[in-house]
Amino acid sequence: MTVTTLKSLLVRKAESEFRSRKAGMKPSAEYPSLIVRICCPYCGATGRIKRQQLPEPDFTVRCPRCGEAVLVKTNRRGCYRKSASIPVSYSPFDIDRLDDQRARNGRIIDISRRGMAVRSNSLNWSQHYGSGVFLTFLFSLPFVNDVKKIRGEIVRVTEDDGGNMRRAGVKFSNLDEYTDNAIRFFLSLSP
Ligand SMILES: [Zn+2]
Repeated sequence: MTVTTLKSLLVRKAESEFRSRKAGMKPSAEYPSLIVRICCPYCGATGRIKRQQLPEPDFTVRCPRCGEAVLVKTNRRGCYRKSASIPVSYSPFDIDRLDDQRARNGRIIDISRRGMAVRSNSLNWSQHYGSGVFLTFLFSLPFVNDVKKIRGEIVRVTEDDGGNMRRAGVKFSNLDEYTDNAIRFFLSLSP
């Protein structure tokens, strides 16, 4: 099944139509994400749908293969944030190497599937790296050897440690499935 299979069946208006049938409906539990992976509990068809916003705890889609309505229950643990201390290189440029001359350095101090907090020397955060700026982040997760590359948007920058350091809240954009899986794995490890 491809993305297009389930893509067209965003069943906003069907949600109320099927609300009354929820009691007998088979549920499919998923993590909250803008791209929600669905596996039809009736016929096994799989695919992905794109949501405009993070899904409410429950929503309904109709399976394109068997036509059954599937109640999707989102798993809030997907929002879990894990403390960390991971070296990270970041740049407004599309960098591919940790030692790229155009990169600056900091540490990821917590991470979730949706975003992370990056701590870095305040000199690295000029007014050019404020809210709304997109940066490329390169880092290696513990126990996963390859370098991860993520594009993220700065959502806020706050002072940390008496002003010498800054903490930037970063929201991931276009997180690919491979990287998402690596982060999920990292989050699943005991602290
Ligand atoms: Zn189905």
